[in-house]
Amino acid sequence: MYQVIGTLPFGKQQNFVEGDYKWSPSTINWLRSQQILLNFTVGKGKRFGDNMDSPACSNDEWKEKLTPEQYAILRKKATEAPFSGKYNEFHGSGRFICAGCGAELFDAETKFDSGTGWPSFTSPIDKGSVAENPDKSLGMTRIEVECSKCGGHLGHVFDDGPGPTGLRYCINSMALELKPDQ
Ligand SMILES: [Zn+2]
Repeated sequence: MYQVIGTLPFGKQQNFVEGDYKWSPSTINWLRSQQILLNFTVGKGKRFGDNMDSPACSNDEWKEKLTPEQYAILRKKATEAPFSGKYNEFHGSGRFICAGCGAELFDAETKFDSGTGWPSFTSPIDKGSVAENPDKSLGMTRIEVECSKCGGHLGHVFDDGPGPTGLRYCINSMALELKPDQ
């Protein structure tokens, strides 16, 4: 376990203990960039951004573990070309796990055909299975979705989805692996 120590606005210092707070590394970066979380330090034993139970991989280790395409998406936030992914047209059952760390992310039951060319889901398996962060890249304001366990980039979430949530989790096929129902 390590501690993240941040100074909140008004100079109030607070310790955040990994495991207690739900912020992903990119959220922390965003908070820092907004000067909400200052004087950021991380304790010994873990690299910045590692979750307690996450596979603590360096960039080189991720490169070895993932295909170049998966690495570009999961670790460098790239987006696969629309209609190119192997799960875009998938209509079977099962659970989608993170291609980086194996965490269960989406149930195929929540998958719907959005027509966008990317696998789309109305909700993650569990609220805590993904982390959502503001993403202002490419001149847009979007909400990035990443794997809570390994911090891998998965895609984005939009509020133009169907019921019951009204959300559209737009996810790269390459960031997922299907675990078929037993
Ligand atoms: Zn993961």
